[in-house]
Amino acid sequence: MNNILLYIGIDDTDSSSGMCTTYITCVIISKLKDCGFNITGFPRLIRLNPFARFKTRGNGATSFKLELKSNKEVDEVKKIVLENVQQLSVLKDERTNPGVVFYHGEITPELQEFGLETIRNIVTIEDAENLLNSIGADFYKFKNGRGIIGALAAICCPLNDKTYELLAYRIPENYGTPRQINHKSVVKMNNNTYPDTFDNLDGRYIAIEPHTPCPVLYGIRSENPEILNQAKATVEVLEPVERFCIYLTNQHTDMHLQKVEKISDMEKFRCYIVEGIVRNKPYVIEGGHLIFTLEDKSGQIECAAYEPTKQFREFVRELEPEDTLRVYGGIGEGVTAKGTLNIEKFELLKLADVVITKNPMCDCGKRMKSAGTGKGYKCPKCGEKLGEGKKETIKIQRNIKEGFYETPPSARRHLSKPIIRN
Ligand code: ATP
Repeated sequence: MNNILLYIGIDDTDSSSGMCTTYITCVIISKLKDCGFNITGFPRLIRLNPFARFKTRGNGATSFKLELKSNKEVDEVKKIVLENVQQLSVLKDERTNPGVVFYHGEITPELQEFGLETIRNIVTIEDAENLLNSIGADFYKFKNGRGIIGALAAICCPLNDKTYELLAYRIPENYGTPRQINHKSVVKMNNNTYPDTFDNLDGRYIAIEPHTPCPVLYGIRSENPEILNQAKATVEVLEPVERFCIYLTNQHTDMHLQKVEKISDMEKFRCYIVEGIVRNKPYVIEGGHLIFTLEDKSGQIECAAYEPTKQFREFVRELEPEDTLRVYGGIGEGVTAKGTLNIEKFELLKLADVVITKNPMCDCGKRMKSAGTGKGYKCPKCGEKLGEGKKETIKIQRNIKEGFYETPPSARRHLSKPIIRN
């Protein structure tokens, strides 16, 4: 009998008060290894649509695959996976609805398409269930089982571009307490490994530690898995690490973004790359968010650089009407029904000429004053007079150049590709 390649997808096991699907997956993989089963390649951490309504935090789902020798082994593996999902998931939280998918078969274009849809659009439990039934997959729904959406997507999402993340997990006694990571060692790790690892620092702060009560102690993001062992060896922690796991992931690939030709074709809860002209000078609203309108021949969309994007707003503040931009971001709720485009980064394609007009200079060297409506100008020093239409046009030096501008690591979406990866 040929070996059986079994894909396993897991999602929706955690709650905002704790736990993490990557941790549960890591525990399951260890238990499988203890029972003599070895997973093939790296487990996958797939980030899905950042605007999915029921996400807890980063909308991540996991999957991994195993080569098994018999149906008996398949049954044993399924038992271990389901028992652990049952035990470790935060089932008492009404928003936690785990789903587990077991699939043995080809990852067809139709399945890949489902994976991409789950990253770029909103899909229903029924969509996932119908597809799972049509491919003959075995799946388990805990409570309403919404997790089957992410579990299936994590198995079948194509990974043309990819990155890796090393996750270190805390011992349960330390959950919710301040993380004990030596900051200087993170700076050293960054100096030694950047840009093969990235998003380690955010200015003076370290960006590898989460700020939620979850089991993750830190996560290091990288271009290749080899560099992660060097990075791990450099980071010093002053608390026990329960386990480590390296995930292959679609993080930082811009996989969530779709190029769109017309602003009028953009829809809420999807993410886009769109070109347009800045219509008005960006202005601040309550909460420190910066807003402006982007326009093309087809329509307009309100764009926002929200307060958590911190210093990124300084670049947005420099934009002027008629600047040409390529904006990368997703449309969330906003003031208007169309929603607001949450900017992840932008490319300033063409700076507009910004000019101011001043009254003309008099031959005596003094700037002239208006002599009244329609009466031209008069020099306040020598009394010289000039007719209308002689205003001087002065081009203003801009404080921003053409090029790319991005949000800082602490405000970056998991899926957003940092410019260093371009
Ligand atoms: P964490 O990042 O801490 O693992 P999370 O943010 O991934 O948490 P989940 O608890 O996994 O959040 O909940 C997300 C839920 O939304 C899952 O049930 C998943 O199946 C579902 N989901 C994910 N993407 C979509 C989508 N595009 N359309 C509809 N439902 C989705």
